[in-house]
Amino acid sequence: MDFGLTTEERALADAVKDFVDNRVEPQMVEIEATNRIPDGTFAEAAALGLFGISIPEEYGGTALTRFSRALVHQMLGRSGFGFAGAIAAHTGIGSDGLVALGTQEQKRRYLPRMASGELRAAFAITEPEAGSDAGSVRTHARKKGDRYYLNGVKRFISGGARAGLITVIARTNTTEKPKELSVFLVEPSFPGFRVGAVYDTMGTRGQPIAELVFEDCEVPQQNRLGEEGKGWLAAMKILGDARPLVAARCVGACERLIEISTDYAKNRKQFGRAIGEFQAIQFMLADMATRTEAARWLTYHAASLADQGRATPEVISMAKLYASEALAFVADSAVQIQGGSAYVTGNPVGRFYRDARVTRIYEGTSEIQRLIIGRALLRH
Ligand SMILES: Cc1cc2nc3c(=O)[nH]c(=O)nc-3n(C[C@H](O)[C@H](O)[C@H](O)COP(=O)(O)OP(=O)(O)OC[C@H]3O[C@@H](n4cnc5c(N)ncnc54)[C@H](O)[C@@H]3O)c2cc1C
Repeated sequence: MDFGLTTEERALADAVKDFVDNRVEPQMVEIEATNRIPDGTFAEAAALGLFGISIPEEYGGTALTRFSRALVHQMLGRSGFGFAGAIAAHTGIGSDGLVALGTQEQKRRYLPRMASGELRAAFAITEPEAGSDAGSVRTHARKKGDRYYLNGVKRFISGGARAGLITVIARTNTTEKPKELSVFLVEPSFPGFRVGAVYDTMGTRGQPIAELVFEDCEVPQQNRLGEEGKGWLAAMKILGDARPLVAARCVGACERLIEISTDYAKNRKQFGRAIGEFQAIQFMLADMATRTEAARWLTYHAASLADQGRATPEVISMAKLYASEALAFVADSAVQIQGGSAYVTGNPVGRFYRDARVTRIYEGTSEIQRLIIGRALLRH
């Protein structure tokens, strides 16, 4: 296996890295304080083509391979998970369902505006009573004439308050088919839709998570995505496809933390010498780098198998599980290497430490990834 990058892949990764390091990172202190990403930063991201990476060329995107998308997400992870999460919700879980299952008419209506960044996308499956047990969603869609009427509450939806299109998973069960879910494309202007609580969070600031409320929310039949009753498989595919991208963002965050930590270790002096000369610090850096390298290989492996149509759920889960746990270790070590300085608000290491925590929770907790891997082992 060879993950040497082609000239095009290297140029893509360098362009995103340059943008994240020089345009996004300098704004992170303000983004943290205001919990808002400036419109100008989104406009710059749009000009760079970041909103269109998952969208086919005929609708204005660049339809990157899964591997190239992972490279983009890896570079996005260099500023933590706030800005990266905003792009990720849009280019991953927010748009993958429409790209995979949409009719031509649905794609024509939404994808060009999504590729340009005019329309931001979100994905809503989680509910107060349906987290890891996502199949137990209660939001219900009742069909009457040529419309569906949605009732229920979604929560923790990334970018939900600012989204122009939300992929919503709802129950369309009947007494004959009690377990059926379906997928709907909901615009915030649809009657009966409103944004509820917008949560303040310990990390991923700039990309608030919101509660979305559906009260007899009127959704035209032509906004159902895919076949009625096939929503569970669609949702699992959307989440499965997004997991290597979470892993990639973790790898990028680890790489940035290693850069920060090695710089600090070279310059901070105690007992008359740079702390990097102490073996205890060298061992921490070595473990950080080794876990990051392993996470990068698992991630690239999952993404390249996805391009070949051969990525199994367990390979994807291994990448997500390992990379998010590697990041937890790397972020914790980065704090330890800086000592008290890391604990002061405004130090980027503290932001990574808080952001990192969510990667073991969203898009399937670490326990759920282990269940997927364990069940696959027992099945084979
Ligand atoms: C910042 C952020 C962004 C998010 N963005 C979105 C979004 O855009 N769209 C969306 O739909 N959702 C989103 N979520 C929701 C996220 O996917 C859920 O929080 C996650 O799936 C876990 O669900 P829960 O929080 O209800 O925890 P629970 O499911 O209640 O889990 C609590 C604990 O129990 C464990 N557990 C549960 N079941 C089992 C089991 N069978 N075996 C072993 N352990 C188990 C879990 O692993 C966890 O440790 C987001 C959440 C956050 C925090």
